[in-house]
Amino acid sequence: MTAQLSGFDGKVAVVTGAGRMRSIGRPVAVQLAAAGCDVVITGTGRPPERYPDDEKASRWRDIESVADEIRKLGRRALPIVSDVSDEDSVNGLAERVMSDFGRVDIVVNNAGSARGEDRCAIVDLDPRIWRSVIDINLTGTFLMCRAFGRLLVEAGRGGSIVNISSIAGKRLSPRAGAYAASKAAIHALTACMAQEVGAASVRVNAICPGFIDTSRLDTIDWQRTIGQIPLGRAGKGKDIADAVLFLCSDQGAWVTGQAWNVDGGTVVQH
Ligand code: NDP
Repeated sequence: MTAQLSGFDGKVAVVTGAGRMRSIGRPVAVQLAAAGCDVVITGTGRPPERYPDDEKASRWRDIESVADEIRKLGRRALPIVSDVSDEDSVNGLAERVMSDFGRVDIVVNNAGSARGEDRCAIVDLDPRIWRSVIDINLTGTFLMCRAFGRLLVEAGRGGSIVNISSIAGKRLSPRAGAYAASKAAIHALTACMAQEVGAASVRVNAICPGFIDTSRLDTIDWQRTIGQIPLGRAGKGKDIADAVLFLCSDQGAWVTGQAWNVDGGTVVQH
């Protein structure tokens, strides 16, 4: 008997924020397709002139490139520009998924606000920046959970929602107040919702990535950062995708309401 994850054939997955080349969303979407899902991927429609240099050099086309990768695996792909922080946009996404695919089974809420001006002390934090981080990370996750949670419960086939949080929501470090608060609140939302929809066999979990080598973290000091990781290397998007796939598989069927660290051992408090 081989140890293999099952339960993906013929299912439809939605992955938000999946258009970047070096990212978490891309390997999550592609691995779900490789496992047997048709996949809906979303992005913000960011302008190509703002792509990182390596994306420009390889003629990356954001969600269209990820959609091509999914199609090459023999699965259907639907790339859609959608703003998770906007209720109408999220509801429109849910309607489009149902009209094009007729079902949804897996939702990975991966979209997150970019690192930037939010990395400062609370007393210096511009309320507009605070609101933007909370709107995208927390309200975005809420709106997606609300719209797609309804569909999952109504369909009566069960399902899996995975909210991509961060160890930042547990470490609660200085100069990351908005981000940490948004991610800690995702753990609360995840735990509450898991208890509400468990009777419908809908599972809701969060994954808390540690330091993952995506373009989001290109400005950090990696040598110093790796010193904080007991397993001695940066995480890869695939490390997170592997954990997402487990949580969405038949083998993850008795796991719900959790906020799992996938971080090379960076956070070990219990
Ligand atoms: P990215 O910043 O590359 O990914 C974030 C994605 O979210 C982007 O694709 C972005 O779209 C999308 N996004 C931003 N705002 C919105 C919005 N309003 N509506 C829809 N999509 C939006 O980073 P990663 O791949 O590294 O991160 C993915 C997730 O993992 C994030 O939630 C992040 O917080 C979390 N995380 C990452 C860690 C890391 O070390 N990299 C560590 C811990 C957590 P676009 O590409 O169009 O701008």
